[in-house]
Amino acid sequence: MVDLAKLYDVRKELAPFGATLVAVSKTKPASDITELIEHGQLIFGENYVQELSEKHEALGSVPQWHFIGSLQSNKVKFIVPYISLIHGVSSHSVLLEISKRSTQVGRTTDVLLQVHIAKEESKSGFDSEDVVAFYESFLKAPLQGVSIRGLMGMATLTDDQCAVADEFQGLRRLYEKLAAFSGSDFNTLSMGMSGDYKIALQEGSNMVRIGSLLFGSRS
Ligand SMILES: *Cc1c(COP(=O)(O)O)cnc(C)c1O
Repeated sequence: MVDLAKLYDVRKELAPFGATLVAVSKTKPASDITELIEHGQLIFGENYVQELSEKHEALGSVPQWHFIGSLQSNKVKFIVPYISLIHGVSSHSVLLEISKRSTQVGRTTDVLLQVHIAKEESKSGFDSEDVVAFYESFLKAPLQGVSIRGLMGMATLTDDQCAVADEFQGLRRLYEKLAAFSGSDFNTLSMGMSGDYKIALQEGSNMVRIGSLLFGSRS
C-alpha cells in the first residue's frame, strides 16, 4: 500500500536540501506507481530490466525511469532507448555497451558511477581509488553517447549511524574531488535509502532513492 502521507513528509524533508526523490518501485504494481504520479511524483527507480520493461510498456515515459540495479551488458540495449538515469555503473565494459547502444539510437545516456563504500562485499561498485583514475581516463577520452553525471553509493546496513555518516561523508568528498575537475554536468550525488536518507542528506546527498517507506515493505 502506498503511503501518501509519507510522500508529503519526505518532500518536506528534502526541500531544504534541494534533493531529488527517486521513488523505488521494484516489486510493486504499476497501480501503485500511478497513484504516486497522481500526487506529482514523476521519478521512479527500478532494479530489474524485465520488470522495468513491463512497467515502461504499461505506463510509458510520462514517469522518468531510473535504473538503480546492477546492470548486465546484455541487458543494456533494452533500457537505453528511454532510461533517464542509470545509477549503478561499475565497470568499463558496461559503460562501453551503454555508449555503443546509445549512439545507435541517437541518444546521450546519463549515468552515475557506483562507488563501493559499504563494509559488505556483496555490494558492488568501484573502489574509491579506482573511480578517480577511471573518471580521469574517461575525461581524457570520453565515450560518445554517455554523460557521467555523478556518483552513487550504498552505505552498510547497520544501526551504527556514525559508521553510515562516515561512509556517506567519504563518498561526498570523492564526489567533490571529481566535481572540481568536471564540467557543470557533473552534479548528482545519489545516496540515501529509506533507512538512512536523513543521514545522507546531512552528508550532502542531492538525490535519495526511497522504496519501502513510500510503498510498504517488500515481500
Ligand atoms: C531497493 C533499493 C533502494 C530502496 O530501498 P528502501 O530501503 O526500500 O528504501 C534504494 N537503492 C537501491 C540501489 C536499491 O536496490
